Amino acid sequence: MADKTHSISAEDREKLIKVAFEAKEGTYSPYSKFAVGAALLALDGHIIKGANIENASYGGTICAERTAIVKAVSEGVRRFKALAVVTNVPSSISPCGMCRQVLREFCSNDMDIFLVPGDYPRPLKENERPEQGYIEGGARKTNLAELLPDSFGPEHLELPRA
Ligand SMILES: [Zn+2]
Repeated sequence: MADKTHSISAEDREKLIKVAFEAKEGTYSPYSKFAVGAALLALDGHIIKGANIENASYGGTICAERTAIVKAVSEGVRRFKALAVVTNVPSSISPCGMCRQVLREFCSNDMDIFLVPGDYPRPLKENERPEQGYIEGGARKTNLAELLPDSFGPEHLELPRA
């Protein structure tokens, strides 16, 4: 279930981003050549890695973010305080809609999510503005409230039925 969280420290963020780059090495993406790594910081401080795993059927493909969440939850880790996602393209890339919904199940709306370009760290580009969440190194800081506004979540299933 979601926890109210606070922003993680710059030190924790840098560590998480570093682990997301390591996680990307686990990619199996022979079709798209689009490598993604995700690092999920659990409330207890340990970090779960995920990579995108493609499939010849295409539909069987699973994203890095869902790999990390499924690994964590299946090992009994269900409370998180930050996520970093890195790709091999020089822009910060947002999670797909399906991953946003899966994150919504276990992460609070205000949990830090860092979207990290493959060429991190680098100077901000002209179109990457701090008011859009861009931070030093070219990463973008966001959260689920921004990525998945007005969302459906587990609490809605607890409502009494009419
Ligand atoms: Zn996804």
